[in-house]
Amino acid sequence: MPSETIKVLIPRLPSADALLPYLTRIDSARTYSNYGPLHREFSTRLAQLTGAPGVTITSNGTSAIELALRIRARSGRRYCLMPSFTFIASAHAVCNAGLTPYLLDVSEQSMMLTPEIVEAALPQLSDLPAAVLVVSAFGAPPDLASWKAFEAKHDIPVVFDAAAAVTALNGVGEQPVCVSLHATKVVGIGEGGAIFSSDRELIERATAMTGFGFLGAERVSAIQGGNYRISEYAAAVGMAVMDGLPARLEALLKLSRSYLERLQGKNVRVQPGVGDYWVTMTFNVVVPPEALQATLDRLDSQHIEWRRWWGLGCHRHPAFADAPRCDMPTTEALAPRVIGLPFHDRLSEQDLDRIAHCLP
Ligand SMILES: *Cc1c(COP(=O)(O)O)cnc(C)c1O
Repeated sequence: MPSETIKVLIPRLPSADALLPYLTRIDSARTYSNYGPLHREFSTRLAQLTGAPGVTITSNGTSAIELALRIRARSGRRYCLMPSFTFIASAHAVCNAGLTPYLLDVSEQSMMLTPEIVEAALPQLSDLPAAVLVVSAFGAPPDLASWKAFEAKHDIPVVFDAAAAVTALNGVGEQPVCVSLHATKVVGIGEGGAIFSSDRELIERATAMTGFGFLGAERVSAIQGGNYRISEYAAAVGMAVMDGLPARLEALLKLSRSYLERLQGKNVRVQPGVGDYWVTMTFNVVVPPEALQATLDRLDSQHIEWRRWWGLGCHRHPAFADAPRCDMPTTEALAPRVIGLPFHDRLSEQDLDRIAHCLP
């Protein structure tokens, strides 16, 4: 009998029972959107989770990045520097903010942009960039301190796409950190996002931009924005997610560690610190080039799903094939070898053994 397929990801949002107390509150309050009581409580809990002094909740992670760039990008400039190795949403957000993505390589070790990579690219640009979008690789904490120093040195605004890193953040400063609350992310509410920053004015502006640019009590549009809010129903899901978050993080940590034990002596690499000081909803291994095809064949023949979560880089997507870019030898060599393994709460010890058995 062929063995059962092991799925790569099985999201889990709160059950109907867990939602009910919050839905009942909506029934009584009869406030359904527009920064209602559940929205406010959920915002407070998100800020506490990250330690960030300020937060704006947005309709999704992509719109969080778009708004942060609209606020921070230097006007009159065109390019937003960003890594090609990211989820394609990052590039869409840059375009939606009225900027042109300029695609760069990443560091082999962290799979992220570094200040050194950007500094090496600056002389190649025809004009100064409007902003830099730094992407957290699959939920790893970005190096906030080195990017703070970069901005101080070059006076080029930095925005973080830390979509999958909401539970890995520490020391959020003025530079806005954008996260996703999509169902597949660790604080998944279905669709949602957030911007964190210690810059009170930025948060105030971002919040106003989520609701037609209304600043203050009057229904007067002070700045251009749009409708990027979440409803009270989405905030209700968020409250229930926060209730269950400690247990979820513990389970994700345990699963990461079960993987790490099985990877001892194997010829694959994992991201620095994963399963140690951070976890997220995916688990990626970097497979050596000479073992790649055989590894994928073994996973396929064992009916084990795997995924290149970020594909081969934005420059390989038709929509962004014409985007200006630097050479990216590391991305070209690395992206095909970053393989997402099954990671969810239905994996048994036997499943993990079966998966590990396929790895070189
Ligand atoms: C998930 C993700 C996004 C997009 O978030 P949405 O909430 O789906 O819009 C952006 N960037 C990265 C790196 C992501 O992983």
